[in-house]
Amino acid sequence: MLKGIAASSGYAQAKVYKLEHPELVVTRIEANKKEELEKFEKALLKTRSDIQSIKAKAVGRLSADELAIFDAHLEFTNDPGLLDQVIATIEKESVNAEWALDKIANTFIKMFESMEDEYFRERAADIKDVAYRIKSHIMGVSIADLSLINEEVIILAEDLTPSDTAQLDKNFTKGFVTEIGGRTSHSAIMARSLEIPAVVGITGVLKTLKHGQFIIMDAIKGEVITDPTPEQQAEYKKLAENYANYRTSLEILKDEKTITTDGHQVELAGNIGNAKDVDGVLHNGGEGVGLYRTEFLYMDASELPNEEDQFEAYKTVLEKMGDRPVVVRTLDIGGDKELSYLPLPKEMNPFLGYRAIRLCLDRTDIFRTQLRALIRASAFGSLRIMFPMIATLQEFNDAKAIYQDEYDNLLAEGVAVSDNIEVGMMVEIPAAAVLADQFAKVSDFFSIGTNDLIQYSFAADRMNEQVSYLYQPLNPALLRLIKMTIDGGHKEGKWVGMCGEMAGDALAAPVLLGLGLDEFSMSATSILEARKVINSLSYADMQELAAKALECSTEEEVVQLLKENL
Ligand code: PEP
Ligand code: MG
Repeated sequence: MLKGIAASSGYAQAKVYKLEHPELVVTRIEANKKEELEKFEKALLKTRSDIQSIKAKAVGRLSADELAIFDAHLEFTNDPGLLDQVIATIEKESVNAEWALDKIANTFIKMFESMEDEYFRERAADIKDVAYRIKSHIMGVSIADLSLINEEVIILAEDLTPSDTAQLDKNFTKGFVTEIGGRTSHSAIMARSLEIPAVVGITGVLKTLKHGQFIIMDAIKGEVITDPTPEQQAEYKKLAENYANYRTSLEILKDEKTITTDGHQVELAGNIGNAKDVDGVLHNGGEGVGLYRTEFLYMDASELPNEEDQFEAYKTVLEKMGDRPVVVRTLDIGGDKELSYLPLPKEMNPFLGYRAIRLCLDRTDIFRTQLRALIRASAFGSLRIMFPMIATLQEFNDAKAIYQDEYDNLLAEGVAVSDNIEVGMMVEIPAAAVLADQFAKVSDFFSIGTNDLIQYSFAADRMNEQVSYLYQPLNPALLRLIKMTIDGGHKEGKWVGMCGEMAGDALAAPVLLGLGLDEFSMSATSILEARKVINSLSYADMQELAAKALECSTEEEVVQLLKENL
């Protein structure tokens, strides 16, 4: 049994699918021309059919522009300039096909890379990609391609990028297991929004498990069972059935309010990464969207998304949610979230570096485009905008001033916009939590981002599983910061929500409720369970319990207190 961190609840049993991109080392070997030409021909055919099937599967998920990349890749597999030279090399030098291909492809790649025009420079990456695929077929090395999976598997990887995760097909991907990452790594968050069970942070798992090996995943406890016995398989099948039944039993709460036994009402919202996720929020009884992470819009594109594309995306989400509020967070890139087309300097401590609002206040061109798209979309629903990673009042005021400028510009242009857009901020840096009463004078609302607030309060990188014991949402130190934030907001009559993963933690909910949190925003799949918990509690009792929790000295004491009282 291997132990990791349960990152997305559920059970799964299936074969392991190792997602690795092996390095292909090519050496020059004298070989039989005819055989090598045949190998090359076959590899080309396989490559073409791979690309066609990847493209077919991506239809509906990617935009027309993005799909066009596959056409460019297909063209390379038919490009006489490239193919004739490879064939000529094999014939003239009697060498192995992969070597001939490598040699010719490299000259093309170098040529494209040295061109001024960005369009051609990008083509170099395309040739690399296609050449890698052809080579892998010649050499008989299978390369992982998530969209080609057509049987039930559990994906095993070092980590999955958010776009890898976004491409997973739920019909075949029964779960995933990774070496790195914690409960709040972005692959874990994506797994919850896709409702795919995940266990993360098992060091050495890539070496331990083999491709094709049958395993059981217990993503409630965070365990992987290797080579399970038939009894274990039956036992976990039963557990999975019970879990599915429990999920179904929560569905009666879908259209209920979230209200304590003594009549205190709160709002339960969902976190989303794209317009598709809205369905999950509505299906699970979400009363709003409490966090729309817009960075996925940027990460899934091959260049900065323009105002029009962003407008369409925001409008779709707002329209789907109707009159339910939608909190959209402005671009939060940097840290562990990278954009291939916006190279950022490598930093020693990326989580403490140039990211989120810091980047947006510097690259105001990017920021203004996003704000314009958002303000235009405000006419189609109930929009709230929030800025990530605010540390100082100056940053908030600067961001708000740019927002106001674009708002005025659009009004002057005669564009229809809403006149009640709330503009708030995330509280995810301890300095902002401590000074919440001052921020509340200028911000319309707060949303507490505990994923980062914990990482910064305990100085523990959220991606590093060796320090994951410091992810302590119930530590009284954190509870006091949360209390300061809530009290600071309420003092100025502002509402305070939470969109970090802690908001969906059923054990934390009673304390957060008692501290006076107004809105809880979480992975859609946690909403009904949270409603069940809150609707069974008395607000007065939870206020008392929260007061006691604030006086504890360790997280264990708080957990003990909660277990005794609930
Ligand atoms: C957070 O930090 O708690 C948060 C919600 O933002 P993200 O996880 O995207 O950093
Ligand atoms: Mg954050």
